Amino acid sequence: MQAIKTRNWNGIVREFQEFLPKVKDDSIVTLREGNTPLIEALNMGALFGNGLKIFLKYEGLNPTGSFKDRGMTMAVSKANEDGSHAIICASTGNTSAAAAAYAVRGGLRAYVLIPEGKIALGKLSQAMMHGAKVVQVQGNFDEALTIVKEVSKAYPVTLVNSINPYRLEGQKTAAFEICNQLGFAPRYHFLPVGNAGNITAYWRGYKEFKEKGIIENLPKMMGFEAEGAAPIVKGHPIKNPETVASAIRIGNPSSWEAAVKARDESGGVIDMVSDDEIIYAYKLLAKEGVFCEPASAASLAGVIKMHKRDIFKNGDTIVCTLTGHGLKDPDTAIKSSDKPITVPPELDKVVKVLGF
Ligand SMILES: *Cc1c(COP(=O)(O)O)cnc(C)c1O
Repeated sequence: MQAIKTRNWNGIVREFQEFLPKVKDDSIVTLREGNTPLIEALNMGALFGNGLKIFLKYEGLNPTGSFKDRGMTMAVSKANEDGSHAIICASTGNTSAAAAAYAVRGGLRAYVLIPEGKIALGKLSQAMMHGAKVVQVQGNFDEALTIVKEVSKAYPVTLVNSINPYRLEGQKTAAFEICNQLGFAPRYHFLPVGNAGNITAYWRGYKEFKEKGIIENLPKMMGFEAEGAAPIVKGHPIKNPETVASAIRIGNPSSWEAAVKARDESGGVIDMVSDDEIIYAYKLLAKEGVFCEPASAASLAGVIKMHKRDIFKNGDTIVCTLTGHGLKDPDTAIKSSDKPITVPPELDKVVKVLGF
């Protein structure tokens, strides 16, 4: 019998090098991110009928549990190649987790600014464990971002927020993977919108595959902000953004214009969903066996909203990016679920509560 071969994936910088800025091989900092599964949703037929094919790009399975790893491997590899010894970012959580992990991996120092009390516990624990210097700012993400931009101008430290152009280059590789996994581009691509970098990156990725003749059609880009943090939908920055989806609690996105361009060029939509709609979709995804964080569920909440408007045709293929892992935010998961039942260690009591 032949051994079953599994190939060791080399991370996005090496695997997609012909589509990415060149990096010297010995400068590459990688945790073999990317190559995340595309999982077909099977249990949502009652909601959508069977005419739609919905696929979940489970980015929570990246090394630090979010898609931020794709951008971070690229940004930190480049910083490393350029001789930088430190990186800095503002973060709603996942960027800080990725920055901390890739920095320590590459022998760089990481400084992260987070809004005090506003980041999910899993993300904070990652930044702390990987030894980043974590600074809690008594303000929101947008204020923290303004500060790190100034710091990176004045001191020898590389900014790795998505205004760093290498971040979006790395992130576009998720679109490549989806095309490779499906064999074509989906008709619709849904994703949450916070700082609006990811929607911009995916659109770039799809367009590059089309230019190379790898795919024939482009998807419509469907971005969803949270209602309490919806500057693009409302047409003005939001001073105090609020939503349960802490990863997209952003009031003045860096890639605002690029995201609007992606929407318009693709014939897509940028709309918003309420916290209730986000939590409903979050629980629906859990029923697929897929655990994502609340912000990720804004993508499926968007599909539900658009389905109510009857925009889909039978046979449409839809991809939702699930941006981060559910374990990042255990508090929201526990709040959204039935509590466990406590019983004494006795067979009859256990059988009774099990309902047999
Ligand atoms: C960063 C992040 C987002 C938002 O992505 P943008 O590129 O900022 O729009 C959404 N979900 C999760 C889990 C994130 O970490």
